Parts: sequence; structure tokens; C-alpha cells
Amino acid sequence: MHTELFGTINGRDVIKYTFGSKEMRVSVLDYGAALQSLVVDGVDVVLGYSRGEEYAVRGGYLGAYVGRAANRIKDAVFTLNGAAYSLTKNEGENHLHGGKRGFSHHFYAAEKLENGVKLRAVSPDGDEGYPGTMTHSVTYLAEGRTLRILFEACSDRDTVWSPTCHAYFNLNGEVGNAVNNYLTLFADRYTPTDAALIPLGTTESVENTVFDFRTRRPIENGGAAHGEYDINFILSGSHAATLEGDISGLCMDIYTDLPCMQLYTAFQDMNSAPGKRRSYGVKEGIALEAQYAPNAVNMDGFAKPILPAGVHGKHYITYSFR
Ligand code: BGC
Repeated sequence: MHTELFGTINGRDVIKYTFGSKEMRVSVLDYGAALQSLVVDGVDVVLGYSRGEEYAVRGGYLGAYVGRAANRIKDAVFTLNGAAYSLTKNEGENHLHGGKRGFSHHFYAAEKLENGVKLRAVSPDGDEGYPGTMTHSVTYLAEGRTLRILFEACSDRDTVWSPTCHAYFNLNGEVGNAVNNYLTLFADRYTPTDAALIPLGTTESVENTVFDFRTRRPIENGGAAHGEYDINFILSGSHAATLEGDISGLCMDIYTDLPCMQLYTAFQDMNSAPGKRRSYGVKEGIALEAQYAPNAVNMDGFAKPILPAGVHGKHYITYSFR
């Protein structure tokens, strides 16, 4: 395990933890519990900022641990056990990625493990509007060419919990355009949305649409305007997706117990952001965010991201390389 000072946010040091093996090196920050670097066979397959400070001030959620609820909650409200809760509005009238200061914008207490790190925090009752004091953690574990991410949470009141890892991948490395990466997404259905990207409450078949990734293909060769995707899919099973570098030939399989996955091709947000090796433009990374359906807490017919009081909740996302 290697630790290094990676910047300062609000007067507090940001520490970067690096672990793994020769075939896979992982770097994680104690701010945002962000996955900052993931080097496989010498190729860094995720986008990340060059210094800790950027994580506090830029949008984009690069590699961040997102919560309490990933993606959008319509009108920033939900009802639980008959009580209505108002959340922070940080995208128009809606709530996005846990609010103004969600899990992606907190510091974590880090525990070094044999080949990984466990990052813990306590989210107070009323944090961004969510009920219940919640202890939560994210654990990153390296095993050969597999990175396991384990999310855990426990609240003293019923609450909403829907974490994700907001990593942006380019399996060719940090080299620019990522929409030529080959994607296979094991999903027969997607959730159509309104203009604010809130699901309509229905699902549609991907058949004969630009959302059909059931057979491996370059992301931008599906008819969607210039490879610009920001859409949620209903996963068919725990093997969610495979991404392959069109230049490197490196392949990543994503496994999860979460029911859905957002495909977002980073066609906004980056804005000359200072990356590790280059300044980022549009479509330089592919976010494949395992999640509950956006706004699921307010929709019938979808798995609900409710964590009952006292229950020790767990979810996982695994990235496996070959
Ligand atoms: C959302 C995008 C958003 C991005 C960064 C994705 O999960 O679906 O709409 O721009 O995160 O916030």
C-alpha cells in the first residue's frame, strides 16, 4: 500500500491510496471515496483529475462514490411511511447524485486492508434532506485483474439508499475519444425519459432502437447522434456489461447486484478539466453506472432503493479485466 498527499480541500489533506499488483494498480482518494486511477497492463482505464482540489469544485463526478441516491429524484421529493421528504434541488427542480454535497463531496476515514481500502463515514439525519443517521462505507479490493467494490450502509430510520461508482472508462487509456470502445450491455429494456432525464415510469424494448447493445458494437455506431447517450437500462442479470478498447483490445466485464445501469458518454461536464495525462474534452470516457432506476423511489413497478431501519444493506460492483 502506497499513500501520498494529493491536495487540500477546506484545509484538510486529501490522501491517495494505491494498491494492487503489477497487473492491476488501483488508486482511491479519501475525498469522495473516488477511484482516481485503475491501471491494467500499463493502461489507465479511468478518467481522473490530476489533483485532489479538482474533485471539490468540478462537476462530472469522476470516479466518485455517489449517494445517498445515484441519479435523479423528480422534484426532489419522495414519500416514505406516509411522510414526505424534501431533498436538495441541485439540477433545476430535481435532485441529482445525492444533492449539493452528497457522498461524492465528503471526506472518509480510511482503513487499509491487505489489498484494498475501506472508506467509512456517517451521514447525519437530514443530510441533503434524507431521513435517518446512516453509517456507510465503500470498500475497494484488488484481486489479480479484478476490482471489487462493496457498498455497505445501515440507518436508524427507514431511508433511501442507492449507491454507485461514477467511473468513466476508456479501455484504450487516457487518450481522448472513448465512443469507439466496443460495448455489450446485457439489457433488453430501457427507461424512456422526459427532457429533464426523469423516467416516464415505463420501460421500452431496445429492439430496433439506438439503445440495443446486446451485441457488441462501437458505442457511436448505433444511430444515436454522435454517440451521445445518457440513459438507464434494466439489466438482465448480474453480468451487466462488457467494454472493450478498440485500440488496446483490453476487455472489462462489469458484474453487479444492482438492477439497472446508466450509460453516459460524457458529452458535457468535462470542459477542459485537468486530467492525469491530458485536459479532458467531450466523450473521453464512458460512465457505466450500476444503480436503481432513476426516480425509482417515486415509481411503481421498479425495484425500490429503500433501506429499512437497522438492516445492514450491501451492494457490489465488480470490474474484471481480460
Ligand atoms: C447523469 C448525467 C450527468 C452525469 C454527471 C450521469 O449519471 O446521467 O446526466 O451529466 O452523471 O453528473
